[in-house]
Amino acid sequence: MSPSRLSQILAAQHAGTPGNRIVRAMSERGALSAAEIARATGLARSTISTALSELKESGIVIEAADQNDTAKGVGRPAITLKLNPEAGTCVGVHLSLDSIQLVLADVSHSVIAEKSINLGVDYPVAAVSAAIKTAVARLYEENGLPLSRLLGLGVSVSGPVGPDGVIRHSSIVPSWTGTNVPRVFGELFRCPVFADNESNCAAVAEMMWGAAQGERDFVLFKIDLGVGGAIVHGGEVIRGIAGGAGEFGHISVEPNGDLCRCGNRGCLEIYASFNRPLAQMERTHGKRMTMDDVILLAENGDTGAQRLIADTGEVAGRGLAIIGTIINPPLIIIGGRLALAGNMLIDPLRRVFEKHTHLKPGRKSASGATRIAVGDFTGNDSLLGAVGMVLRSQGR
Ligand SMILES: [Zn+2]
Repeated sequence: MSPSRLSQILAAQHAGTPGNRIVRAMSERGALSAAEIARATGLARSTISTALSELKESGIVIEAADQNDTAKGVGRPAITLKLNPEAGTCVGVHLSLDSIQLVLADVSHSVIAEKSINLGVDYPVAAVSAAIKTAVARLYEENGLPLSRLLGLGVSVSGPVGPDGVIRHSSIVPSWTGTNVPRVFGELFRCPVFADNESNCAAVAEMMWGAAQGERDFVLFKIDLGVGGAIVHGGEVIRGIAGGAGEFGHISVEPNGDLCRCGNRGCLEIYASFNRPLAQMERTHGKRMTMDDVILLAENGDTGAQRLIADTGEVAGRGLAIIGTIINPPLIIIGGRLALAGNMLIDPLRRVFEKHTHLKPGRKSASGATRIAVGDFTGNDSLLGAVGMVLRSQGR
């Protein structure tokens, strides 16, 4: 049986019905066994059984092909079920400094295709709208999919985005400031559009598929050429009144420090990002370098590269201690490309965090200590999170 479009099926159901709650759980988490559905939804097994029969009959839910991964213990492996990939697809878009990245995924959480388009620095809204419309149409055509199955578009932006979807100032694409993303892209595709800051999207990706799976409360701290962050509470990203929550990079730590791109002085980003250290490496080595180059040099014993990574970890740790004292989160995920330096970054970061944060590990039980872990995604986290926003919205 060919399934109807997922959004139509969900619209026809009353919100909060067992079927609706199961679809939402699968949309958020991918393939699940009946026991996992019970844990995720709190529904009784008999209710789940009835609802799953209806969902399978209407073609919304199918059995997952590979059941070995979830088989536990002896006896018959647990059957896992997932949303039928034919029930809908979604597109994630990441607007970065000089290019846009797109990913096409289906509701079973499979990535079907990815694309990248270079547009030059500070590209105008009209140029990107046209480019995305063409690119999405081509992605669907190349993969033999009908555009009518597009359930939603998730857009990740390198800058603050208000809960109304409007891009605020200090975005790294200045000409986009004031743009209402859902309105601009909603007109192109006539589907729901979700927009958020890139670090908030990265937190969604880590929560759905990465190092924060199963965590309801955590903080993400991204160390790259800038510093970004996100706060997740009760499984939801905290956005603040104008989308500025979690902008840890713009905590002013030196009142008389250098001017930041945001207009403040002495922002944490100036000291805890890898922007200045990278420029120093380029100066001393006399050539253009990437963050990957510096990490590789450090791994091969270059003491200068090791020192710059450790110093960055120490400054980040001091900044994180402020966040730790304010929020006291159970988990801090370190993201961004510098996280690929692993313990060269994390060890000094953790040491300084513990030194400066209010509650020291020694003063509380081991179970009360903030855990610091490297994220599972460092390069494409925002793009995957953009898709994650759409998947999480299904069944709500
Ligand atoms: Zn700033």
